[in-house]
Amino acid sequence: TAPRVVVIGGGFGGATAARALRQGGVDVTLVEASGTYVSCPFSNEVIVGLQPLSAQRFGYDNLTRTGLTRVQANATGVDPSGRRVTLADGTTLPYDRLVLSPGIDLRLDAVPGYGAEAVAAMPHAWKAGEQTALLARQLEAMPEGGTVVLSAPANPYRCPPGPYERASLIAHFLKTRKPRAKLILLDAKDTFSKQRLFQSAWAALYPDQLEYVPLASGGQVTAVEPAAMTVRTDFSEYKADVACIIPPQRAGRIAAIAGAADRSGWCPIDPVTFESKLVPGIHVIGDAAIAGAMPKSAFSANAQAKVCAQAVIDLLAGRAPEEPKLINTCYSLVAPGYGISIAGVFHPVNGLLADVEGAGGISPVDAPASVREQEAVYAADWYRTITREVFG
Ligand code: FAD
Repeated sequence: TAPRVVVIGGGFGGATAARALRQGGVDVTLVEASGTYVSCPFSNEVIVGLQPLSAQRFGYDNLTRTGLTRVQANATGVDPSGRRVTLADGTTLPYDRLVLSPGIDLRLDAVPGYGAEAVAAMPHAWKAGEQTALLARQLEAMPEGGTVVLSAPANPYRCPPGPYERASLIAHFLKTRKPRAKLILLDAKDTFSKQRLFQSAWAALYPDQLEYVPLASGGQVTAVEPAAMTVRTDFSEYKADVACIIPPQRAGRIAAIAGAADRSGWCPIDPVTFESKLVPGIHVIGDAAIAGAMPKSAFSANAQAKVCAQAVIDLLAGRAPEEPKLINTCYSLVAPGYGISIAGVFHPVNGLLADVEGAGGISPVDAPASVREQEAVYAADWYRTITREVFG
């Protein structure tokens, strides 16, 4: 019989891998819990009313038309020695190789007070969908002159520039809709992605809206109290009208169940094949993987999925996979019509993905408005292109 590959997770990583494996003639089963994917890229725009939530939703019909088998179910077990996946209803799916792209789980135990009740009062909106809509409603309903508190976690986490894009767009929303209101951005670190670009834009655009508190100034959140809407740090306590807490994260739970996650909560992989360093026959891509210098982005997940799919096809055919080069670009909007970006190229070095020296780059710090406008157009084009490629 033809070799069988099961892919768990139908997001940017898993849907791309399933499509590429199918195109390579492999018998693929895609296991995805949800019937509709809700995409995180551009969800910061939804939060401030610049884009409808409907623009984040993608169905699986076109992917299914490629001839793969889609199973809408939660995968609850993996037996690596018997090479079987178990679904919530008890069904088992045998595999020759398994690809995991389960994304992230939020570590609700990591911030004292930030449990299930707090998620409803102080949304993280770090998985798009109901949380995104909730934060949008809270901002819309906030009184003029109110305080928004936004907290960013320490590394590593999904979408390194994401909290700063969110801060920028919330500041834009306040400036245009509630000009006496303020945003306090609490950060559990002192440096972050595209920092100079963000901070010079904030100084120019949002001097009255956005206050940035790095780790060194007490930016680490030590506890929250959702009933009182307070956010505590080492140095102060903030009373929020709207609070968005982005907690630390780990690989989606099925990765740990499969034995592919290490003590960090993330999954060490071989950078040529994305095969787990802990469990043979299981490959991990996207946010769940420890991909060295590659950031946890949809762009990375998509690039890793293509490399992983080709490696799986090669391994099933008894061929040695080639050394890959992977690209990532992350766009962020600082305001409507104001985009910035960072790009990198990565290759395997000593068992990890490392930067290719001299490749990649970042938007210039001093650039005319026309350059920022052009990058905002590229960002929208990128989103259209990748979502069409993955789900279209
Ligand atoms: P996901 O896309 O999260 O997919 C995982 C899927 O697995 C989910 O659909 C889930 O339902 C499913 N799943 C998990 N466990 C199981 C199970 N046991 N059984 C069945 N199904 C399961 N990236 C960019 O490149 N550009 C951006 O501009 C950008 N902006 C962002 C903005 C925000 C606010 C956020 C939060 C993220 C942003 N990202 C961006 C990051 C991007 O969303 C993630 O890096 C990307 O989604 C990772 O893909 P993935 O396949 O690893 O996980």
